[in-house]
Amino acid sequence: MSTTATNASTDANQASTAAWDPIFDELNFPKDPDNMYAQTVATMLHGAEVVGLRHRVKIILAQPKNELMVHFPVKMNDGHHHLFKGYRVQHNNALGPFKGGLRFHPDVHLDDVKSLALMMTLKCALVRIPLGGAKGGVKCNPREMSVDELERVARRFTSAIQHVIGPDYDIPAPDVGTNAQVMAWIADTYQMSTNDRTSTDGMRVVTGKPVEIGGSLGRNKATGQGVVDVLVEMLPAFGIPIEDMRVSVQGWGNVGSWAGRILQKLGAKIVAVMDHSGCLLNEDGFDTEALTAYCQEHGSIAGFEKAHKTTGSGKDTSKGAQPISLEDFYKTRVDVFIPAALEQMIKAEEASYINCRVIAEGANGPVTPEGDEVLEKRGIHCIPDILANAGGVTVSYFEWVQNKTYHMWDEERVDAELNRIMVMAARRTLVAKQKYDVPMRQAAYCSALEHLGAVYRVRGIFP
Ligand code: GLU
Repeated sequence: MSTTATNASTDANQASTAAWDPIFDELNFPKDPDNMYAQTVATMLHGAEVVGLRHRVKIILAQPKNELMVHFPVKMNDGHHHLFKGYRVQHNNALGPFKGGLRFHPDVHLDDVKSLALMMTLKCALVRIPLGGAKGGVKCNPREMSVDELERVARRFTSAIQHVIGPDYDIPAPDVGTNAQVMAWIADTYQMSTNDRTSTDGMRVVTGKPVEIGGSLGRNKATGQGVVDVLVEMLPAFGIPIEDMRVSVQGWGNVGSWAGRILQKLGAKIVAVMDHSGCLLNEDGFDTEALTAYCQEHGSIAGFEKAHKTTGSGKDTSKGAQPISLEDFYKTRVDVFIPAALEQMIKAEEASYINCRVIAEGANGPVTPEGDEVLEKRGIHCIPDILANAGGVTVSYFEWVQNKTYHMWDEERVDAELNRIMVMAARRTLVAKQKYDVPMRQAAYCSALEHLGAVYRVRGIFP
């Protein structure tokens, strides 16, 4: 069970929570129960207590190694200059170079970025890839920017953080509001700014690049594919056959739309979807390819029910689709619910009426600690973010390896290696769940922390 920094003492497991407060006090944490960073650290420290991590490793992991905040001006299309705020938080590099996405979104805040960077450390540790954890972003609204403005922001931000990133030091990737094109601008800017202009090695500074400039086949769909790989591995234990299972998806962006499309191919029915514009229901199951194409053209799912396009076989792709309220979206009866939008969306209230048996967290941190407690009481299984959405960073790792070795893997190899890593991580989580008798989120944290603890044991702490 997860708890917050301030209500730690109310946790059922008094023995483990007793050790939390001193670390929060020792590190001067703000006593704000809604602070996402404090929440993530509390969950991490609980796991650290369960696996018996030493105090020195706990305090190292409770704060990021480096935090950079930058302000930079960009000329907008109307001629005025706007001052943007950006971040790069490098949480930990004990396992390998700092690694994690860059998010372009109006709600980017330092504490959320710190929290997401810590999750990256744990995610890489859980899937046992030799990478550390980082996260960054720019507070901006890409939906309200032209392509030219977006490019100028990406390039100018790169130049503001270029002294702290590097192909073997800190390797950004796509996240909410960024994509392969943004990575291409970042890689190009970085490479043009490095001292050695005779080499294209600087292009390795980001993953999730377009395939034309060294991106990996299978990277674009990787996070959604990883969600599906974990579900296929775990659902039999919950007695849910993929064939004909009902699924709802929150967020029809990269992760949600890929997970939905792959699941539909496996025979599942995507019956409810939600994005920033609203919610749709289709009891017969959406044509997920048509919904994705519509979304790419119109920027959201709004109006899909009225699009009425006809497929080659004469089928109306909007047939059966109808708008529903947010509450009805959550209350739609499904086997699996995939939150694939933003963090902190499933609070106690939403958790009390979500009508599903399993949640697979495509997004990072979509369920708050209070939401988690309600889900736990209701017996809803939650496959946590650091496991469910680790496919993205795993294929990022494959991209980095391919770039370093000047090789290109075919998509079959990428998919097979990804599947192997996701299945192993899922089994590792279930083993930790049994061993420590904790819920799945805690089990995933425990397994990641066991690995980090072992690495610190052999490396020691300098000097
Ligand atoms: N942004 C993704 C995540 O949260 C991918 C990070 C990466 O590929 O480095 O896992």
